[in-house]
Amino acid sequence: MSAQRQQSPNDVTIAVVGDGFGALLVYTTAVYLGFKPEQIGIFGEQTNPVATYQQFAWNLGQTVLRSESESHFLPADWPTFAQLDAYTRRSPAALARSVRRKFNPGVPEILTEAAVVTRNLGYPDRVLGGSKVGWVAREPGDGGGPPYFSLYDEDARLLGRARHVMIAVGHGPLAFPGVYGPAREDPEIGERVVQAYEPKTYFPGGRYLVVGSGIAAVNEWVNVLEAGAQCIAMRRNPEPEDQDLNVPRCLFDGSGIDAFQGLSFDQRMDFLGQALRGTSPSRRNWSETIRAGAEQGRFEEVIGEATEIRRGHAGLGLNVRLIDGREGTIDVTGVICATGFEKSALALPVIRRLAQTYDVPIHRERVRLKTNCGVPPLDRDDSRLCMMGLSANTVVPNGDTIAGLKYIARRFVGDVARAEGLRTRSFPSRLKMQMGLARKTVSALRDVHETEQLA
Ligand SMILES: Cc1cc2nc3c(=O)[nH]c(=O)nc-3n(C[C@H](O)[C@H](O)[C@H](O)COP(=O)(O)OP(=O)(O)OC[C@H]3O[C@@H](n4cnc5c(N)ncnc54)[C@H](O)[C@@H]3O)c2cc1C
Repeated sequence: MSAQRQQSPNDVTIAVVGDGFGALLVYTTAVYLGFKPEQIGIFGEQTNPVATYQQFAWNLGQTVLRSESESHFLPADWPTFAQLDAYTRRSPAALARSVRRKFNPGVPEILTEAAVVTRNLGYPDRVLGGSKVGWVAREPGDGGGPPYFSLYDEDARLLGRARHVMIAVGHGPLAFPGVYGPAREDPEIGERVVQAYEPKTYFPGGRYLVVGSGIAAVNEWVNVLEAGAQCIAMRRNPEPEDQDLNVPRCLFDGSGIDAFQGLSFDQRMDFLGQALRGTSPSRRNWSETIRAGAEQGRFEEVIGEATEIRRGHAGLGLNVRLIDGREGTIDVTGVICATGFEKSALALPVIRRLAQTYDVPIHRERVRLKTNCGVPPLDRDDSRLCMMGLSANTVVPNGDTIAGLKYIARRFVGDVARAEGLRTRSFPSRLKMQMGLARKTVSALRDVHETEQLA
């Protein structure tokens, strides 16, 4: 970059478009490897990187993570979260659970760790611009220098410039598939159709239909039953899979990810379609609540789908087609769609515009990323443009989990360090940073009430 460009406070080596988990993990990884905070810019609205997740988790009533001990926010994986927890509570219980893969960090605990890392590494000071990025523009290098990117907000105001950019904008809007979309828009009944990730209240004695078979659905079954209401669980598949995270665990390590990347783009999309469909974990306390609800006649399952929704005696009336072809009607107080987010890349404005402007290849509504998560045709070794999170799960199947984000962040930051000829932080300095953050996490965790494990 030219001397003139260096004068802007928002000229950075690494920019992250987005301000959530992915942004924090790129930042942490970069500082750990040796980049100075002022070489990194987070372009988004929020200085708290867990704010988006926290709101969804709160609305869902999530108390423990779906993921396990290795998924956490310290730059390196060791000590694991179970080890930190065991040290904090002076109890081996977390370690014993972790060995059996039955330890899930509590939400308050993991957010405490994220807060320690955020504060101690100076993340909030590096959130620049204060608005969403609307446009990412490729610029030729000044005076023969390497190319870079300019970032603009929705009103085309220049926010900053960067040699390397990671797009970490999370999910598209909440999904209301099939008849639920029009019902949600209907002013007469729309307020009775909500998403699992939205705020909601269940009334004792009410009757609620929960649509979906993933973990958010199971979570809502329990919420409905615990509120003293009746739950009808509706799903399309007779047999949901039994695992806690969104993809099979074998795809969480490097060899699993390599095998996945060996498939064609279409094969990867088909695989994800299968693997991400209906994952419901067995959790001891949840199972007990559901069994008790079923015994009391307050929980039933329906396999089929709604074909029409209208106003009904209890609030809503649904026509339903069952899996065996029979038709029926159901009256409920409200419907909860545990149907996740829109997965189309085109639902994210910054990505849609990138595709329109630069012919970024879109296939089956997803960006056809390079296997290093680079965005063709803009990504170059000396000026990387990558994606992480849900946008990258066609390359890294667990890309939308803490573990997958960390994997992508490490690869990206490593590439940038090579491109920039970074003098990396020495091993003793990295160890000191890691252990310092671990100590501070343990100290902060002592003030956090221990969250009950559910597995
Ligand atoms: C209820 C729930 C429970 C989960 N539980 C787990 C779990 O137990 N374990 C696990 O590993 N993962 C879990 N996840 C997944 C985890 O939250 C995601 O992997 C992670 O948040 C993705 O990080 P991200 O940075 O891609 O997106 P986010 O954390 O969603 O952050 C993206 C941010 O970018 C902002 N943004 C969007 N567009 C722009 C723009 N144009 N410019 C600037 N900013 C923009 C958004 O407003 C948002 O704040 C869970 C997710 C949910 C919803």
